[in-house]
Amino acid sequence: MPELNLDELLDLDRRHVWHPYGPMPGTQRPLVVESAAGVRLRVAGHGELVDGMSSWWSAIHGYGHPVLDEAARGQLGRMSHVMFGGLTHEPAVRLVERLVDMSPEGLEHVFLADSGSVSVEVALKMCLQYWRSLGRPEKRRMLTWRGGYHGDTWQPMSVCDPEGGMHGLWAGVLQEQIFVDEPPSGFDAYDESYAEQLREAIARHAHEVAAVIVEPVVQGAGGMRFHSPAYLRVLREACDAHDVLLVFDEIATGFGRTGELFAAGHAGVSPDVMCVGKALTGGYLTMAATLCTARVAEGISRGEVPVLAHGPTFMGNPLASAIACASIDLLLSQDWRGEVKRIGAGLSDALSEAHEIPGVRDVRVLGAIGVVQLDREVDMAAATRAAVAEGVWLRPFRDLVYTMPPYVTNDEDVARIGRAVCAVAAAATGKG
Ligand SMILES: *Cc1c(COP(=O)(O)O)cnc(C)c1O
Repeated sequence: MPELNLDELLDLDRRHVWHPYGPMPGTQRPLVVESAAGVRLRVAGHGELVDGMSSWWSAIHGYGHPVLDEAARGQLGRMSHVMFGGLTHEPAVRLVERLVDMSPEGLEHVFLADSGSVSVEVALKMCLQYWRSLGRPEKRRMLTWRGGYHGDTWQPMSVCDPEGGMHGLWAGVLQEQIFVDEPPSGFDAYDESYAEQLREAIARHAHEVAAVIVEPVVQGAGGMRFHSPAYLRVLREACDAHDVLLVFDEIATGFGRTGELFAAGHAGVSPDVMCVGKALTGGYLTMAATLCTARVAEGISRGEVPVLAHGPTFMGNPLASAIACASIDLLLSQDWRGEVKRIGAGLSDALSEAHEIPGVRDVRVLGAIGVVQLDREVDMAAATRAAVAEGVWLRPFRDLVYTMPPYVTNDEDVARIGRAVCAVAAAATGKG
């Protein structure tokens, strides 16, 4: 039985509850979700909406999946949480074993973190400490390309795109990192002069740079742009040549979303440090992980302070670990590659008509990700209305209407999501 009626709930929400990237008090009325099952959200006053967002990349198996529910119930009956200092448990050990097995070659050690941003903090701390341990504390900056997104806590913010990350607002507060141009757009577009720019920047700054950090193949919240995997090989070679570590942030791209288990797989290269999050628990609980090579771990552990000084209260949470194991097993037990391909094909089909909408700049699909880019910013309220009218939940940002459906979305629902993306694009450009 709900204890609040809809108006009371929305009034309390508006007055007291901070929402992502929102003002206080709230100015936009959120939809109220009552429950979720399969690929559908049950929304007060709107019935069921097909989820085109996988709750920000995370709910790859949909909602209320019987296997994940059972894993949660089973673990709840044993323990939902114990501290990780001085204690260990099977769910965390099993999860780490799986992550090491499935991740790119060479990543052997795993730090379990409580969110994606924290896993990036840990990744950067590992890299800085590695060089400190080796007696090279001057290597303390990060190098990245523009258009990236790595989270909202301080260090991750410093490597986000300077505009998207609001570096103007934080000038003099955020550490100043080194930025090169964003990679040329297009999975199949390789530009040797851009590769040369990457090599030059790494060579020029190597004396002060601890690590290069990038999102491989797909830049997510920084602009939903795709680039050639060949640049990852360029980065790997240049980093090796100049004593710089390489970090891949696979928080959005991990667990099959781009058509490979990890986006690094498109390039066949391994980073020194890798972050995963978002889909790690199938969208059930917050958890992320930072993986590193033996070289990084040994470097840190040989230093003056031979420990990694990080230890979140909820590190290795057993409930999240057990669900993450179940989610990974579920993913690997099915033809995930086929499902991702099927959804990508359905999206390509459904989004092809977006090319005809005036004001549409670009339409792109990779793996199970579909993006329509407009010539203007979307009006969020109008966009939500247009998507809801099609029976779909979408959350565009800036000039981007995009979708990354759960892998269990059937063809009919993929087509419906595609229609909704087109409807939002048409509404935003005044042709709806
Ligand atoms: C979402 C995201 C993060 C931040 O993860 P949170 O769990 O929101 O802190 C970092 N990097 C990338 C690439 C992401 O997509």
